[in-house]
Amino acid sequence: MSFSLPSLQAARPSGPSPELAALVRRATELYEDLELGAVRAWKAAVPGRKAVGHLPIYVPRELIHAAGMLPVGIVGGGDRLEIIRGDAYFQSYICHIPRSTIELALSGRLDALDGMLFPSICDVIRNLSGMWTMLFPDRYVRYVDVPQNYDPALGGRFWRRELDILREDLGRLAGRAISDNGLCRSIGVYNENRGAIRALYEARRRQPWFFPTSELFLFLRAGNVLPPEEHTALLRDYLRLAPLEVNRTPQDQSRVVLVGMFCEQPPLGLLRTLERAGCWVVGDDLLLGLRWISGEVATEGDPLGNLVEAFLTQSASTASRYEPSGDRGRWLVEAVRESAAEGVIFCAPSFCDPALLEQPMLTTALNRAGIPHTQFKYSEDTGQFAVIREQAGTFADSIRLWSEA
Ligand code: SF4
Repeated sequence: MSFSLPSLQAARPSGPSPELAALVRRATELYEDLELGAVRAWKAAVPGRKAVGHLPIYVPRELIHAAGMLPVGIVGGGDRLEIIRGDAYFQSYICHIPRSTIELALSGRLDALDGMLFPSICDVIRNLSGMWTMLFPDRYVRYVDVPQNYDPALGGRFWRRELDILREDLGRLAGRAISDNGLCRSIGVYNENRGAIRALYEARRRQPWFFPTSELFLFLRAGNVLPPEEHTALLRDYLRLAPLEVNRTPQDQSRVVLVGMFCEQPPLGLLRTLERAGCWVVGDDLLLGLRWISGEVATEGDPLGNLVEAFLTQSASTASRYEPSGDRGRWLVEAVRESAAEGVIFCAPSFCDPALLEQPMLTTALNRAGIPHTQFKYSEDTGQFAVIREQAGTFADSIRLWSEA
């Protein structure tokens, strides 16, 4: 008995279900919208609403939310923005995200933002905050100096003082003081949001074919511009719909962890290239700020104290964070083991000092643990992936060969 092609197609539809396709389309539109249309729409819905932008990696978005404002993650212009004026502000040998962020601002695309926070992750972001102060003297700008000491009596005290100032400032900007009750509620909202992100990462770890990282990335990115409640609902819909896709089946791919993407984000094409080259990404540090706190933040008692405690005890491990034990590679080895990954791809933005300076320490730890790795660099506007595809494909093949041997 022979089957005709149409009958096969009827049994197994070629694309995602209409419901999932609509969800992916929504996430893609948000990803591609450099004009911050979703933020403008949120503001326009209720007169007087305000939005506050922030650069990677981590800011306590709960404080912005508790002031009734919308936290907006800014991660540069990606590969859809022509840099006209941004290059004039920077030397050639630094990463791309500050140029495209300046370009976004000078072209009016960030006009919806009433304030901007610059967390202390590297000198580039520090300098960018200074430029912002000069370029936009009418807007609220703050350099958020996160502690590099995790002793409650030192770093904890310091961070508490920073949060006190931020609370006052944001309350003033919003025109209403941030109450303890309101802040506790906002902490609860972000607990839910981080919980949904954790569930998504866990689902991908178990069944990466249902949650390809090139798609997961779009849903994460939506969290930069949507109110957290809406983002959580979007993630839950995705978690419900993706496993129903009968076309998504396990393939002979190698499981890898990506490291180095915590600040300037890779172009979507790069993530697709890795998948086409034979890699299932089962761990990554994309948009790390959305899940910087690894667990729940207490919602009872002193909310600022709870945020401080969470920062000191539950912060993600990454290049721009001080590692009190001095053992900088341990978290990566653990991440590989927990995700049952077979190798690591160091995938960092060109000229990213924190990521690239940490790499030798991380590779030493991987070598000691016998974990294969490879590395390449990207820029958010990289458009050619042939070399990366060859390299990642060879890496994925070699992992499979080693495991068979
Ligand atoms: S990509 Fe790296 S060097 Fe550039 S701003 Fe981000 S952390 Fe700093």
